[in-house]
Amino acid sequence: MTDRYAVVGNPVAHSKSPEIHAMFARECGADMQYERLLAPATEFAATVDAFRISGAAGVNVTLPFKLEAFDYAGARTARAERGRSVNTLRFDANEIVGDNTDGVGLCRDIVSNIGQPLLGARILLVGAGGAARAVIGALLDFQPAALVITNRTPDKAQAIVDEFNARNVFYAIGYSALPTRRFDVLINATSASLTASLPLVPASCFDQNALAYDMMYGKGQTPFLALAASAGARTADGLGMLVEQAAEAFFVWRGVRPVTGSVLKSMRQSTR
Ligand code: NDP
Repeated sequence: MTDRYAVVGNPVAHSKSPEIHAMFARECGADMQYERLLAPATEFAATVDAFRISGAAGVNVTLPFKLEAFDYAGARTARAERGRSVNTLRFDANEIVGDNTDGVGLCRDIVSNIGQPLLGARILLVGAGGAARAVIGALLDFQPAALVITNRTPDKAQAIVDEFNARNVFYAIGYSALPTRRFDVLINATSASLTASLPLVPASCFDQNALAYDMMYGKGQTPFLALAASAGARTADGLGMLVEQAAEAFFVWRGVRPVTGSVLKSMRQSTR
């Protein structure tokens, strides 16, 4: 029987997940379908219920429903609990399991695809929304020398720090403290690139040979990446994270982890 999955969001028409999972399915010989499900703003649970009751096996969850998906899940993995957000739901016979694969996806892209070590690195995480929150646990697992979070609204960054019990390495600073600091890895987890704007990170923050990573993808060279390049940093967009988090979701659902290299290459060509 064909297993059915979907990505649920609003909007969802732009999602590249169906293409990515179709490639994984071909690669792994999996008999599955993957579609887009547009959920009205107040009807996430009803939309997922209907899909699940129709016999579906799981969903990916995108904006703006990752917190609702967290509440919807009857059981949650440790990494979903840590970030208090769910991007993958698996419909088991007796329960609905919520997971979050964004953190693993980001770290696998940085460490395995790009070759940037996180162990002992000084990391700056810019932004304190859902995406930032979701990746902190995975970044801390790599034992960085420091994980520093900064956000336009500083209280939100501090609130996230207060939730994690890792104050020896994980702390918040305001934008005003950035000019005195240098980092090896700088991750833009804001949505500033959506509007071609730039979080107030000074060029002096990029250490020699630093990696600048913008979670945004499909926007070409964002202002953040342009600044990083002008400061001599290496740059990467979030397409690799997207593909890697999808591969991890595929594993959560099917117990098979697809090889991502050719899929990432193909997605890179189609988003040019
Ligand atoms: P949220 O809406 O939850 O958070 C947005 C964050 O961006 C907040 O910290 C907000 O600050 C900050 N922000 C927005 N505009 C600006 C600006 N002009 N200057 C400075 N800061 C700004 O969004 P998400 O966390 O869900 O998503 C963030 C980004 O990550 C998006 O671009 C999304 O596409 C991307 N993403 C990529 C993924 C991938 O697989 N590559 C996966 C998930 C997300 P404040 O708190 O002050 O409002």
